[in-house]
Amino acid sequence: MVSELVVISGKGGTGKTSVVASFAALAERAVLADCDVDAADLHLILNPTVVHREDFSGGKSATIITDRCTACGICREVCRFDAVFHDGPGNEFVDTTYRIDSVACEGCGVCAWFCPSRAIDFSPAVNGEWYISKTRHGPMVHARLGVAEENSGKLVTTVRREAKRVAEEENRRMVIIDGSPGIGCPVIASITGATAVLVVTEPTLSGLHDLDRVVDLASHFGIPTSICINKSDINPEMTKRIRERARERKIEALGEIPYDPEVTRAQIAGVSVVEHGGGPASTAIRDLWHSVAKNLPEPSGLIQLQTKG
Ligand code: SF4
Ligand code: SF4
Repeated sequence: MVSELVVISGKGGTGKTSVVASFAALAERAVLADCDVDAADLHLILNPTVVHREDFSGGKSATIITDRCTACGICREVCRFDAVFHDGPGNEFVDTTYRIDSVACEGCGVCAWFCPSRAIDFSPAVNGEWYISKTRHGPMVHARLGVAEENSGKLVTTVRREAKRVAEEENRRMVIIDGSPGIGCPVIASITGATAVLVVTEPTLSGLHDLDRVVDLASHFGIPTSICINKSDINPEMTKRIRERARERKIEALGEIPYDPEVTRAQIAGVSVVEHGGGPASTAIRDLWHSVAKNLPEPSGLIQLQTKG
């Protein structure tokens, strides 16, 4: 059985990826998954070498085949998303055909159904790519979504499924997931059915509100959830409030990471905090990792035995 630990945050920029990269360095025989597909940046620290690449198709899109279009205008009449325009190139029948704006098209397929000339191609659209890579800390599955593309929830599901498959094939016990921030579709896809969730938050008022929202979400799906407070010493009063809120909500506060300029130096050097040195943030993340591994539901015993350092 493969455990899935998902690290999430209420918003971007809380230090979530720094925590995940350090966990990657500390865990033995884990697979890494970057499910923050809208703003993937784990690769900047783990420097992956791609060994497998595949197109991702999150849905279908419609395209007018100019040579067949008679400019009857039915496609524009039936499109509820105003994605059809009468400014396409001419052909042997008409001076101006119709054209579909690929950004506005929602891929419903209605125009293709009604076109009397079978002039609309409705086929799977390539919205991005996903990769299996090698890193110095083990295999990593990650992805890139095309510009202005949606369906990131589906791509997250693909990344998680492939990471789990790699773990099973290579007899690795754990997938560490850098989840999407927020509470939208991608984060739901990141956590559904996971073994445990760790929420990274910061001691600010918005951090407290964001924490409530993500903890609500994880509780809704019944996933064991814990938190850690990053830069905990920049606002001790708010850190105390977050600790109290966690207690009220019966969420374990597993760690506090102090502000440490070494975190930025590690980012600039392209390595995780725990690989860069032994400052206060590095020590706190090591302690956090040991607590997380200890608190993971079964088969955590196996994971503890496999923890480095
Ligand atoms: S319905 Fe078909 S033939 Fe008519 S304008 Fe649209 S693409 Fe052209
Ligand atoms: S597929 Fe749907 S959204 Fe896209 S152009 Fe056709 S009718 Fe409009």
